[in-house]
Amino acid sequence: MLDLLLRNARIVQPGVGVMSGSVAVKDGRIAAILGPRDKAPAGETVECSERILMPGLIDPHTHFGFGSDETDFRTESRSAALGGVTAAFTFHRSADLRESTGPWRDRGLEQSCIDFGFHFGLTSRLHVETLAEAARAFGVTSFKFYLMYKGAAGAAKGFAEIDDALLYAAMQQVARIPGGVLGVHCENVEVIAALRPAIRDSGATDLRAWDAQSPDFLEAENVFRVGYFADKAGCPANIVHLSSREGLEVTDYLRSKPRSAPLTVETCIHYLTLTHDARAPEGKVNPPLRSARDVDALWQAVADGRIETVGSDHVPRKHATKGPDLWQASAGFPGIGTLLPLLIDEGHHKRGLPLERIAAVTSLNVARLYGVAGKGWIAPGMDADLVLIDPELRREVRHATLESFSDYTPWEGQSLRGWPVATYVRGRCVARDGAVLPEVAEAPGGAYMAREIAAAEQERTSGGAGA
Ligand SMILES: [Zn+2]
Repeated sequence: MLDLLLRNARIVQPGVGVMSGSVAVKDGRIAAILGPRDKAPAGETVECSERILMPGLIDPHTHFGFGSDETDFRTESRSAALGGVTAAFTFHRSADLRESTGPWRDRGLEQSCIDFGFHFGLTSRLHVETLAEAARAFGVTSFKFYLMYKGAAGAAKGFAEIDDALLYAAMQQVARIPGGVLGVHCENVEVIAALRPAIRDSGATDLRAWDAQSPDFLEAENVFRVGYFADKAGCPANIVHLSSREGLEVTDYLRSKPRSAPLTVETCIHYLTLTHDARAPEGKVNPPLRSARDVDALWQAVADGRIETVGSDHVPRKHATKGPDLWQASAGFPGIGTLLPLLIDEGHHKRGLPLERIAAVTSLNVARLYGVAGKGWIAPGMDADLVLIDPELRREVRHATLESFSDYTPWEGQSLRGWPVATYVRGRCVARDGAVLPEVAEAPGGAYMAREIAAAEQERTSGGAGA
């Protein structure tokens, strides 16, 4: 007998389309796709009434631990589950990744109600030298390099060794990891130092000022350097949280040439739904929010496939860190709980983006880029990570209902059409009708996504990312 039958849904297949059917689940996996009216004995049958069933989202970009080391896996995974996110990659940074990763993974296993994996932050020579060892020990094939923390900007954060030499050495190392990919934060922080003081001294405290102190061309310049070096090093590179049309045009140029390894692009939900006219300092983030013209260009790239993945860059800090003014406020804000409703409301309803495109950039492409086996697609044998969506349900964003450690959201009060009504992690319902189920507190149940390094190699040679 089946464990679960989700009957009569509109099933969204990433990059392909929408079909009517029912999804049968057994032992945490999808057992079969049946016709919409088919019946089969199951422990639980859910009538979906032609609502939308999508693969659970895999958020490629989160910062669990920036709110509270102690509890972020609990609170932020609950916020994710409410938003239809069934797995997340979170950045892990420490002095020695070989020592810190095990305990951090154990914390996640104890607290997370969604599946999770790590990207390693590379901020020192030690990290680059021990990259292969740490990668194999923890099944981590994705890494991040922070050009934002070069020179004086890095020294202020305790990173003394970030420069182009370390960037290139990291690329050489990542190129040797089967399935490896290097994400890079692109902002030319050296030129920011030439622009910021005059703007700050002018007394400006809005987000246009934050945009102006690190304008689009500083992102674009770094994108070129990263894309160019990555080609020379044979390193798959991913431009994370791309914010600007100018930066996008550079990726178009780089990808118009034959490349030794793929160059992919991620953007984040705030670059698709907020501009530099949003509320300050809540909307302070790196790279900055841009103009409406940039927003339009990024949506176009999501629609036509030049942007492969969309994440939240979720930072669950308290609102108290957003002050006392723009210049001293922390950067980043929470977003994992509103990622999907914003994509449906703004992308699907307002801009006509097909649901299969939303599913591609939030599930299949993320699974492929990061070598996640068994996720990202609704088919027999895959993990039953699913989100049931009522595309017409209208609700206002309220931070108080998002369950995050954080106590605000830059989308507060916005009325959105299209919300998740049930979220399933490997066949288990973790959230329904806007509430996390009580039994989840007792037994969160999230699994760690170790990447099989050899399998990732096969995956790449047989197809690569992109739907
Ligand atoms: Zn980030």
